[in-house]
Amino acid sequence: MLIINKLLLAYNLVDNKYFYSFFFKTLIHITFISYICAILKVMKIVSNRSDLIQELNLLRQLGKTIGFVPTMGALHEGHLSLMRYSNDQNDITVVSIFVNPTQFNDKKDYQRYPRILDEDIKKLESVSCDFLFTPSEHEMYPVKDTREFDFGNLDKVMEGKFRPGHFQGVALIVSKLFEIVNPDFAYFGEKDFQQVAIIKHITKKLDFPVEIISCPILRETDGLAMSSRNMLLSIEERKHVPLIFKTLQEAQQKAKNLSVDETKNWVVCTINNDSFLKVEYFEIVDETNLQPINKWEQKTGKVGCIAVHVGNIRLIDNIRFNS
Ligand code: AMP
Repeated sequence: MLIINKLLLAYNLVDNKYFYSFFFKTLIHITFISYICAILKVMKIVSNRSDLIQELNLLRQLGKTIGFVPTMGALHEGHLSLMRYSNDQNDITVVSIFVNPTQFNDKKDYQRYPRILDEDIKKLESVSCDFLFTPSEHEMYPVKDTREFDFGNLDKVMEGKFRPGHFQGVALIVSKLFEIVNPDFAYFGEKDFQQVAIIKHITKKLDFPVEIISCPILRETDGLAMSSRNMLLSIEERKHVPLIFKTLQEAQQKAKNLSVDETKNWVVCTINNDSFLKVEYFEIVDETNLQPINKWEQKTGKVGCIAVHVGNIRLIDNIRFNS
């Protein structure tokens, strides 16, 4: 009865001189409520593993699903796209930022890796991340972890071959993070194509109760795959790197008339022709087992994966080849 009376009163106000003051009061109320809601959605920054475990356990008991996006920071739109996938699929999104020393086979690469936490925090707030986990090195490695992972043949090629120990470090940190966050879904970018295969492999082998979601590569308007390392390129180097993806795209067309080996040679020569770029490897592999193919007739999906040196910086990218 009280509600009906209030509705009638509000309805009467529409027709009289108090309408505008009523309208503005309502507007202020709505703005205030939205503000309170936004405050309640404030991102929590946690650097202690037991605090995070405790917070997430509580949410899990309330029936909330948890999506997880592990990163090394210096965030760009590619990273944010993973967070948007997680937000769409889960009640809670957890992002970690940790520049993991055990996955760097090159000490200088580790030292110069960009670290811009304040900017990252602003970006994470813009995509409504719920928890940011920023552990210290001691928090993640209080004692030396000597676990060894078996990837079968997955790490015998490409990144595994040219960056010895890299995937041992990746598997180690991802396992540790999975143990802490215990997510329902974890999101990884296809830019690191071999990494996704490795993570799926260990998730299955070690029986982690998490579903791995691989997400498409985000690119700059000139085709360059977004990467934290792009910000380390000089202005001159930046002008040359779009050739990498341009060449991969052209290779898709060339592949209609060339053999696998001829296509590979054409890609390497075209990129190396630019004095700023030096191809480390270009392989066309079976997407399921990552082994190099030598005939286009193979039925499974084929992916061309490349690593290119640009001065001190090393960039990777990949593209699919249709049957
Ligand atoms: P990183 O911080 O480089 O370890 O990357 C964290 C995650 O973001 C990894 O799963 C990457 O594959 C993913 N990622 C990096 N660059 C891109 C991109 N351009 N598009 C989509 N995902 C990306």
